[in-house]
Amino acid sequence: MSVLIKGGRIVTAADDYVGDVLAENGVVTLIGESLGVPADRVIDATGKLVLPGAVDPHTHMEMAFGGTVTCDDFTSGTVSAAFGGTTTLIDFCMQTPGATFPEALAAYHEKIERAKPVIDVGFHIGITDLREGGTLEDLAKVPDEGVTSYKLFMAYKGAVMVDDETLFRAMEVAAESGALVMVHAENGDAIHVLVQQALAEGKTDPVWHARTRPPITEGEATNRAIQLAHVAGAPLYVVHVSCKEAIEPIARARAAGWPALGETCTQYLFIDETALEKPNFEGGKYVYTPPPRPKENQEHLWQALSTGVLSAVSTDHCPFKWDGQKTLGRDDFSKIPNGGPGIENRLHMLYSFGVREGRISLRRFVELVSTNPARYFGLYPRKGTIAVGSDADLVVWDPEKRLTLSASTHHSNVDYNLFEGTEVVGAPEVVLCRGQVIVEGDELVAQPGAGRFVKRARFGEELTARPVPA
Ligand SMILES: [Zn+2]
Repeated sequence: MSVLIKGGRIVTAADDYVGDVLAENGVVTLIGESLGVPADRVIDATGKLVLPGAVDPHTHMEMAFGGTVTCDDFTSGTVSAAFGGTTTLIDFCMQTPGATFPEALAAYHEKIERAKPVIDVGFHIGITDLREGGTLEDLAKVPDEGVTSYKLFMAYKGAVMVDDETLFRAMEVAAESGALVMVHAENGDAIHVLVQQALAEGKTDPVWHARTRPPITEGEATNRAIQLAHVAGAPLYVVHVSCKEAIEPIARARAAGWPALGETCTQYLFIDETALEKPNFEGGKYVYTPPPRPKENQEHLWQALSTGVLSAVSTDHCPFKWDGQKTLGRDDFSKIPNGGPGIENRLHMLYSFGVREGRISLRRFVELVSTNPARYFGLYPRKGTIAVGSDADLVVWDPEKRLTLSASTHHSNVDYNLFEGTEVVGAPEVVLCRGQVIVEGDELVAQPGAGRFVKRARFGEELTARPVPA
């Protein structure tokens, strides 16, 4: 099977030029001008952009949390991702209490085999316990399975939160095993106290989700994680940075040359804490963690993305239906399952309001949504770029296509959209994963199971490009 994409403007993190791309057997085999080679399928990309498929390093499909389970599995979640131009996601394989790491991995492999994803999927291992089931020896071997990042939560006390000893031990293992440590950085102990106090005072509305998690609790934990990682000699990736207080310690660490990386998520760039005050429990839709912040943080986040203090934009897609799941916390904000949807709209929002409004360049956009996540999580250069030998994960992007984002048209199972009614300009026209067309206009044309599990290289190492057929 070969596909020739002709005359598009090819944009990577490094380059921007007009040319043709030939994909054969899933791999890019030729790039050039006016290629006269035969192909099974020719796509005219004149006037369109040709981008590397986006990589979303932060999603939670079919994950048990807060007494319920996220409403997308690896079928609906990957379909939704594909429609937004994302061709690889990395989800969190969570260690359940008492389980070993091999058991956790087996359970997640079973999930993706059952779901038959339409895009490629990788895992991070979510460490919740190093005393009962998880051992340091097993943890050290996880990267051998192509799972080369360890995620730990410094919040959600009584659930997935770990103490500093567990965090530090995992960092020491990572320093040896070549894994990248990822942290959810919030001071879970202080937040637990603030939540209990608010509830005791009868403060039960969704807005108290934000008021009991002040930005400084994120800033404190971010700084603590950075310092501990430095002592352990491990690289660190701080997920979902939402505010100035967390940006500052990352900026300091990076200025000192420490391997500290940070991502933000689409929602923090566009939604502020006033969303939680929407009446009739509509505010419950915006209960994700960290919470939506005071609006002035959005400018700090855009600036951090353009100056390189923050290195990636993910979605933290963690969808719970409003009706029946979010409403579990109608009378108590602490019982609202924490998480928001968004895997389909990351590129729509960043292109429309980041690139078109001049906040980030087109190449920086590609870097933030594709190249950097691929690099940091051991997928580059097989993914995250358009080069001979790379996977033919390609998005033909129509820069003029107009779209109104809505739960009535998105492809996730979730019953609301964080950006409901937002008009965007720029959307995928054709999406390919390893050379197979998976989305064409408004239609899903992927075969179920088109996506595969991807084994990733260790932090700082490259995933070898595939041999090009002669
Ligand atoms: Zn998350």
